[in-house]
Amino acid sequence: MFLVEGFVIAFGLAVGSFINVCIYRIPRGQSVLLPRSSCPKCDHPIRPWENIPILSYLFLRGKCRQCGSRISWVYPTLEVSTGILFYLLFLKYGFHTPFFINMVFFSLLLILLFVDLFERLLPNVVTLGGLVFGLVMAPFQSEEFLAAFRLLDLPPVMWTQYVDSLLGIVVGGGFLWLVAELYFRVKKVEGMGFGDIKMMAMVGAFLGWAYTWLTILLGSLLGALIGSLYMFVFRKGRRYQLPFGSFLAVGAIASTLWGRKLLTFYLTQF
Ligand SMILES: [Zn+2]
Repeated sequence: MFLVEGFVIAFGLAVGSFINVCIYRIPRGQSVLLPRSSCPKCDHPIRPWENIPILSYLFLRGKCRQCGSRISWVYPTLEVSTGILFYLLFLKYGFHTPFFINMVFFSLLLILLFVDLFERLLPNVVTLGGLVFGLVMAPFQSEEFLAAFRLLDLPPVMWTQYVDSLLGIVVGGGFLWLVAELYFRVKKVEGMGFGDIKMMAMVGAFLGWAYTWLTILLGSLLGALIGSLYMFVFRKGRRYQLPFGSFLAVGAIASTLWGRKLLTFYLTQF
């Protein structure tokens, strides 16, 4: 039993390591597969044994072996986070199709979280690519689909899952577009980028309309709380641009893992 869980976590660490590469290279328009990784300061090529998640970071004491420049805290943090998140998905779904689909979803969200945090950018490759993947995979997010598959009773379940995914795209993308449009009409400046709109359309494709709505709620709440605190503490001006996509990514992860509990809590409070 522990073997399986250990494997899931180890797989998460390895994927986290690849996500690090994506975060660094996608905004720079570089290939995520080639060439091999190297130190951004001195170009020292990272050898396989220097590239083992966590262990290498600890062994190298967070420094490049050649030039001694510090390796960012982001690398080990992301590796561990991915490992934990994959494990939580496994606890929720076991080895069923939603487990595999949501591992892809979480990987895309982690890329968006950090690229938006560092570059204020939400790349189309990730948002639009994810949207297509989420929509195509929608029927497999349901256990019912697999049961129906055996009974050769496909269409009804398949269509409800597709409709929910499409509604998610409309709710996620549409609502954010509406907010952006209203803000622009009133303030005459752009408050929200098209990246956020495309990102929420992608989240909608994976989560369906209800959890997409929850994601917007959580993301806005987090953005308002943490964002205003950050701007207050570090005395950022009103022109400071919050990484809204990062907060939405956290909201989407929470909605996937604990959406039902959060929605029940929310609905019984009011
Ligand atoms: Zn170096």
